[in-house]
Amino acid sequence: MGQLIDGKAVAARVRAEVKQEVERLKAERGLVPGLTVVRVGEDPASKIYVTGKKKAAEEVGFNSWEEHPDASITEEELLSVVERLNEDPAVHGILVQLPLPKHIDSERIISAVRPEKDVDGFHPMNAGKLSLGKPGPRACTPFGVMRLLREVGCDPAGKRAVVVGRSNIVGKPMALMLLQADATVVICHRKSNLAEEVSRADIVVAAVGVPELIKGEWIKPGAVVIDVGMNRMPDGKLKGDVEFAAALERASFITPVPGGVGPMTIAMLMRNTLDAAKGGV
Ligand code: NAP
Repeated sequence: MGQLIDGKAVAARVRAEVKQEVERLKAERGLVPGLTVVRVGEDPASKIYVTGKKKAAEEVGFNSWEEHPDASITEEELLSVVERLNEDPAVHGILVQLPLPKHIDSERIISAVRPEKDVDGFHPMNAGKLSLGKPGPRACTPFGVMRLLREVGCDPAGKRAVVVGRSNIVGKPMALMLLQADATVVICHRKSNLAEEVSRADIVVAAVGVPELIKGEWIKPGAVVIDVGMNRMPDGKLKGDVEFAAALERASFITPVPGGVGPMTIAMLMRNTLDAAKGGV
């Protein structure tokens, strides 16, 4: 029977660490980290995420602002919002909440954020730094997973890690972070033989978006299982990408959904913003 990884508790610890450093920065350098979240239009999920991010930012002692243009804003107008924030010395972190309305090219907007202020870690320059193994802001969700692994004493070095999903925001950066930590990494997608690959993994990270796609019987006994999936079911409950109860029987450690990876994403955003205010990692 595996042990649960308490993402809420670890995230609270990360936020407490950030808060302590913010107090020190204020006292020693008179510097208050500033985070601006840009939310375009009225996507209901984005509203919930942005509210959570603003609340966390205020709790750790950051200055926190929201830019909230109407969904009818043009791409050029949004670019000038980003440009203004790039130039504002009080703003150390800029987060453009996705998804953006369809008439706006998200990649163009993300690329317009100054890489040092890209606290989401999505800018091509920062994705490139990760791929080169250089320091820089890291994509928050996989960065949070690395912290969870550390918290349960799981050193990826020499282990076989299987990442299911290859998105630019979770799967790919996750695989690169595990590689940087000296794991032997396999990245799976729709064409992969999931049962075969997952059953050989010491560390499984599921970032797919399909409820319970990863079967408990595939989990190698003693594996560490990290479930990034957040699937809203018809009854309103959240379910992960892993068949949780069956996987719990075989894993050594496993993240629940909710309460596993989810809380870590915002906590690592706080970490990235603090690092940006300090002038980078
Ligand atoms: P995404 O962009 O839709 O990517 C999903 C990936 O899963 C793709 O690479 C896709 O493969 C793969 N995939 C889909 N169905 C598959 C199948 N049947 N077999 C094998 N691979 C399959 O999703 P994402 O943005 O990475 O998000 C993944 C999940 O994580 C979602 O549930 C999302 O809500 C959650 N999430 C959680 C957090 C958090 O804070 N906890 C943050 C971000 C995302 P192909 O490339 O072959 O299409």
